Amino acid sequence: MQKLIYKNIFWAIITMFVFMLVFSLLFENTEKAETLSINQIVSKINSGEITKITVRGDDLSIDLKDDKKAIAKKEAEAGLSQTLKNYGIESSILDNVDIEIKDRSGFKFWMGIIIPTLLPLIIIIAIFLFILKQAKGGVNQALSFGKSNLKLFNSLKNRVTFKDVAGLKEAKQELVEIVDFLKNPKKYLAIGAKIPRGVLLMGSPGTGKTLLARAVAGESGVPFFYISASEFVEMFVGVGASRIRNIFDTAKKSAPSILFIDEIDAVGRERGTGIGGGHDEREQTLNQILVEMDGFEKEARIIVIAATNRPDVLDRALLRPGRFDRQVVLDLPDINDREAILQIHGADKIIEKNVNLRKVAVRTPGFSGADLANLMNEAAILAARNNRKTISQDDLFESVEKVLLGPERRGRVISLKEKEITAYHEAGHALVTASIKGSDPVHKISIISRGRAGGYTMKLPIEETHLKTKSQFLSDLATLMGGYAAEKSIFGEVSTGASNDLREATKLARALVTQFGMSEKLGPMTFGESQELVFLGREISTTKNYSEEVAVEIDKEVRSLINRAYKASQRILKLHQKILEKIAKTLIEKETLEQEDFYKLLKDYKIKPIEV
Ligand code: ADP
Ligand code: MG
Ligand code: ZN
Repeated sequence: MQKLIYKNIFWAIITMFVFMLVFSLLFENTEKAETLSINQIVSKINSGEITKITVRGDDLSIDLKDDKKAIAKKEAEAGLSQTLKNYGIESSILDNVDIEIKDRSGFKFWMGIIIPTLLPLIIIIAIFLFILKQAKGGVNQALSFGKSNLKLFNSLKNRVTFKDVAGLKEAKQELVEIVDFLKNPKKYLAIGAKIPRGVLLMGSPGTGKTLLARAVAGESGVPFFYISASEFVEMFVGVGASRIRNIFDTAKKSAPSILFIDEIDAVGRERGTGIGGGHDEREQTLNQILVEMDGFEKEARIIVIAATNRPDVLDRALLRPGRFDRQVVLDLPDINDREAILQIHGADKIIEKNVNLRKVAVRTPGFSGADLANLMNEAAILAARNNRKTISQDDLFESVEKVLLGPERRGRVISLKEKEITAYHEAGHALVTASIKGSDPVHKISIISRGRAGGYTMKLPIEETHLKTKSQFLSDLATLMGGYAAEKSIFGEVSTGASNDLREATKLARALVTQFGMSEKLGPMTFGESQELVFLGREISTTKNYSEEVAVEIDKEVRSLINRAYKASQRILKLHQKILEKIAKTLIEKETLEQEDFYKLLKDYKIKPIEV
């Protein structure tokens, strides 16, 4: 509000200046002009100094010979010519003066009246209206709402529809139903169906939760209120709760309506866990949400949609029937959806005709919708930066890696030795990948550093799966160890370049043992309970629910899994040392190897894939 006042004062001052400027321009001439009496006029006419007199009512404006101007007044009743004649001017002399009679309603005349009287009034009214409008916060004009950032979605501007959302079939279906509830409630109420109160959209960041909600706004044709739950988290206890009350009131007033609460986990965390400081304010806010949702009358046609990427931390009370009784999971897009998302985001860009988006979709497993949108944009930037008018397939491929690993750092100077180490390291990964049964094909190898990675080997699944087997994990482990094994066998020692691989491998091996029950020794059990499950977010702390002996067992088992993988990769590299050298040398020379080049290199040698 404070800011607003300053803004208004600023504008008031600016208007004043404009007003003064107009005023002074308009009356500039008259002020400079000399005022004459009738006697003076008469003598000037007689001496031939006056060329023209313009009469406007009683006002005379006089053009003098030397291009000067003057003004004068005449008597109210008498005409000018008559007056002059009365002063004894002869008609022959008067004929030399051009006398023009003008209407009193001249522009200047009226402005002379309007500006000083009406303009200040108009300005004051305008400022007043402006302040009033600002105070209303834009919520539907009639509903004043200054307290929170509740936004009424203007569905006409930047309208998003379900067409703009690729994939997410189930989620869309669910929401289409919701929209139908709002539009034709009778149909549902007639058979005794209750209208759902709330829909919770869950999915990792960037899967399109907010987008989907906006699409509902665009499709439903009812008022759609939007707020982010983080705006409830305030310094003062009770503020959030009162905001919730306000928001629900507003939404109810314009029912049927949809209220969308984004990032609801900001307030909806399980109460009493103490994580995040056992925030009292948050609890009150959450309670208020619960109260409001319970408080809807049966017929109240308002539906609350909430979004979160942390459903695991949400308070159970929020999830029970009657509140967010519908829960919709938004998965990461599969290959078809990725292609569709790329198409949507490529629609407004100029893409070369021969570009195959499917090929890009193939290379991007695990990308979210937001990643893909970003990828498309990066490709456009890349093309523009190279002064090209269209986006090529290579731009897209390059952007995949950029989004995945960060920008290429060709400028980073590396010594010959370092380059050699990196080449053997990546060659190790690639060769092990190619020599193990059931592992995914190598897609690309590069020793150009990118982001934080010194080099990288990309392998991609032939088909996407949702389940992974133990043997797949074991082959993953072996390929992870390939870099380490190569460095060790060629140079006799390892560099720090392998540290990331080791961390990944250890994490994977531990998960195999403690979460997936894939260790023979420890059996089909899970170990350790995460405070915040590793569902979509990160785990914060793990409680140890097993004995010290078991902990030792787990460590042993993890070590043995990693050792097994290491041995397997060592065996492969020893068996095919010539190929390893060839790959590494080619890499040093060319820096990157695409899939075809790599497999062409291997063709001369007979590699029989082994099991880990
Ligand atoms: P979040 O789930 O984190 O709320 P958003 O809805 O904000 O994700 O998605 C971010 C952006 O990613 C969207 O604005 C859109 O450009 C893109 N996006 C995500 N999912 C999809 C999808 N299924 N179809 C099209 N674009 C998508
Ligand atoms: Mg979002
Ligand atoms: Zn590596």
